[in-house]
Amino acid sequence: NRINDSMGYQVGDLLIQTMAERIVACLQPIDSVIRLNPEQFIVILSHSEQNQAAAVAQLVLDRLSIPFVLEGQEIFITTSIGITTRSDAADNVDLLIKQADAAMQTAQKQSGNHYEFYASGMTVGSLNQFLLEANLRHALERSEFQVYYQPKVSLVTGEIVGAEALIRWFSSSQGFVSPVEFIPLAEETGLIVPLDEWVMTTVCTQAKQWQLADLPPLQVAVNLSGLQFHQTDLTERVTQILQRTELEPQYLELELTESVIMQNTDATIKKLDQLKTLGIQIAIDDFGTGYSSLSYLKQFSFDTLKIDRCFVQNISCDSKNAAITTAMIQMAHDLDLKVIAEGVETNSELAFLQQQACDEMQGYFFSRPVPAPEFEQLLVT
Ligand code: C2E
Ligand code: CA
Ligand code: CA
Ligand code: CA
Repeated sequence: NRINDSMGYQVGDLLIQTMAERIVACLQPIDSVIRLNPEQFIVILSHSEQNQAAAVAQLVLDRLSIPFVLEGQEIFITTSIGITTRSDAADNVDLLIKQADAAMQTAQKQSGNHYEFYASGMTVGSLNQFLLEANLRHALERSEFQVYYQPKVSLVTGEIVGAEALIRWFSSSQGFVSPVEFIPLAEETGLIVPLDEWVMTTVCTQAKQWQLADLPPLQVAVNLSGLQFHQTDLTERVTQILQRTELEPQYLELELTESVIMQNTDATIKKLDQLKTLGIQIAIDDFGTGYSSLSYLKQFSFDTLKIDRCFVQNISCDSKNAAITTAMIQMAHDLDLKVIAEGVETNSELAFLQQQACDEMQGYFFSRPVPAPEFEQLLVT
C-alpha cells in the first residue's frame, strides 16, 4: 500500500512484481514464496541448513539492493529479513511465522539491509498483532475506517463549540479494533501518514458540509501523529486539503501531543509558525503527561492546551489532581491560551472546572464520540 500510495498503482505493482522475481531468482525450485502484502514476503526453504539459509538471505539482500529502474526512475528499497528454523518451533506454523516476524523486526532496527536469526528472548508478537498489521494495510482501500466526532463544549455558554475527530476501525475480519491498538502499529509501519491525511480530508469535507447546511460553524480538531507532523511537506499538504475542501483555515485545529512537539524542537518551532501563518489552530494534547514546562512551551506558537484525562479524573475528591489542574488552568490563562479539559465524566468534575474558569470541556459526561449524523442531532437539539 505504501508503495502504491507513493508511486501510483501501475509503477507500484511493477515494482512488487520485479521484487518478487528477484527473490525467486535466489531460490531453488523446491522452495516457495508467499506474498503476504505488498511489502512482505514469506520464503520457505526446503532442506536447508542454517548456514544455507543465511547464504540465501544474503543473496536476497544483495539482489534487492540493486536499484530498480522503472519508467526511467531509479528506486532504492531497504530490506529486512528474519529467519527461523523448524527445529525452533517444530511444525507449529503460527509459531514459525511469529518467530520469523520477531527476527525480522530485530533486523529492521539495524538500519536496513540486514538479516537476523530468531533467538530465544526476542519478543514474539501475538499472531493477532501480526494479522492486525497485515489487515491494516488494506483497511483504507476497503473503506473500513470511519470518523467519529466528540463535542467540545463551552463551560461558559454550555454550547457545542467544536468537535474532536476520532478514527474508528471496523475490520471485516477482526471486528472493532481500538485506535489505542492500531495507531501505534500504523505509526511503526508508516501507514499513519495516508491514514491521517484521509481523516483530515474527511473531517474538512464534513465541516464544510455542516456550514453549508446552516449549522453553527464549528472548529473541528484532528489528531496528528508525530510521523505526520514531522513530514517536510506537511504545511503544503494541509494547504491543499483546505483548498480542495474549501474550508476556511480558522475552522481547522490540529491536536499535537506534548511529546511530539518536544522532539526536534528547532524544527517544531518553524513548523508551528508555518501552520499558524496558514491560519489554523493548534492544540497541545495530553498536556501534563510529558515532561515539559509551560515556560518552555512559550517558544511554540499554539492556541489551546488540552489537560489530559488523568488529571481530570476524580478532580473533585483527589486534592492532588485538583491542585495540578488549577495550576495548569491558571498558567495557561496567564499565557493567553485557551484551556480545555478532556475526559470529563461527572457533574462534580464539570462543576470544579467551571469554578476554576476552565474554558471548554470534552468527555463522556456530555457525549461519547459519535458518527457524523448523530453529532448533527446533538447540534440541532
Ligand atoms: P486522544 O487524542 O487523547 O483522544 C481522547 C481519547 O479519550 C479518545 O479515545 C476518546 O474516545 C476518549 N475519551 C473521550 N472522553 C472520554 C471520557 O470521558 N472518559 C474516558 N475514559 N475516555 C474518553 P480513542 O477514540 O480510543 O482514541 C485514543 C487515542 O488514539 C487518541 O487519544 C489519539 O491519540 C489516537 N487517535 C484517535 N484518532 C486518531 C486519528 O485520527 N489520528 C491519530 N494520529 N491518532 C488518533
Ligand atoms: Ca486528541
Ligand atoms: Ca488527549
Ligand atoms: Ca491520549
